[in-house]
Parts: sequence; structure tokens; C-alpha cells
Amino acid sequence: MFSLAPLPYAHDALAPTIDAETMQIHHGKHHQAYVDNLNKALDGHNAGADLISILGALDALPESVRGAVRNNGGGHANHSMFWNLMRPQPQAAPTGELKAALEAAFGDMAQLQEKFNDGGVKRFGSGWVFVVFDPKGGALSIQSYPNQDTPLMEGKFALFGNDVWEHAYYLSYRNRRADYLKAWWNVLDWAQVEQRYAQLKAGEKLI
Ligand code: MN
Repeated sequence: MFSLAPLPYAHDALAPTIDAETMQIHHGKHHQAYVDNLNKALDGHNAGADLISILGALDALPESVRGAVRNNGGGHANHSMFWNLMRPQPQAAPTGELKAALEAAFGDMAQLQEKFNDGGVKRFGSGWVFVVFDPKGGALSIQSYPNQDTPLMEGKFALFGNDVWEHAYYLSYRNRRADYLKAWWNVLDWAQVEQRYAQLKAGEKLI
């Protein structure tokens, strides 16, 4: 059985970038629903397997539950990553090895943010934008995915990512997804991203 972890900060800690009501609904209702529906879908199927293995081998599941596991398992993985990336008093910029790798892949920080935000704005409908880490060689790329799809489905990992479903921003930003994407960098904690990068480089598998 999968379960919802508490947030590592208070619901209002990321305001005004993300308001308290959005956090309450997004974590307590949307993410909880992904967890509950994943558990329902997996009932009797692949019990005991870890989420990374399940999402990396969706074809191994019966077709009757595959779609529900893809949507809700992806939702659980993506949101588990997302909450832990953010902090009320974040490290404002990357340093060291991560900074060098990001600059090599995308140019300076302004260029990285522009490309990432563009990926998020252009995702039609609901989805995510990620900096994806390819464990075969360590390349970094910016990719957007529909719905709750995740790089884990391709044997890759999110270094970090942002949720561009309307439920992530609509109460404060209404239809202005681009403004939300720009503001979100204010709460991204680069210390968390640096830790993920070090773990991924060391060969760990991360949700
Ligand atoms: Mn979401």
C-alpha cells in the first residue's frame, strides 16, 4: 500500500508564490486521490513492487489496470518529487557540479528558466515540465509530458519538474500559467536539486 507523506513545511509556507488553499487542495485532495486510486488499481496486481519498477514496466500489468496505474502511479511519483523540491527559504541558485552541468546543457540560468518555462507554457492541457536525467551517460534535457506521465516510464529520472495542471495554480494565477511558471523559481530549493543530482550521478534511482 502506498501512502501520502506529509508536506515538509506548512501549507502557507510557500505563499505568496503558492497560496495555502492551493497547497491544501493540491496535496490533501489531488495527491491523496492519486494514492488512493493507485492502491485500488494495484489491488492484487504487482503487490510489493516499488513504484519506480512498476512505472518502468507498465506493459507487465494487465491491460485492465494499466491506464489507472499509469495515471495514478505517475501522479503519486510526480507529486512526491514536487513537494520536496520546494522550500520557504530556498537556496536561490545552483552551485558547483550541478551549475556546470546545467550551463553546459542549457546556457546560463536565464536561458535554462526561459527554456523550461517555454516547455511548461506549450504543454497543451495538463501535464508537467521536467529537467530529465538520463542514467545512460547523465545527459540533461528539458521535456514536457502530458497528464501524469513521467520520465520513470522511459527508465529516466526527473532532476526536477513543475506541475502545469490548472489545479497547481488556478486559484492565484487564474489562466496565467506563464506567470506561475516564472514565479515558481522563487520557491525551488536548489539545495534539494543538488542532492538529487548527486544521488542520480551515483546511480541511485529516485522518484
Ligand atoms: Mn498536481
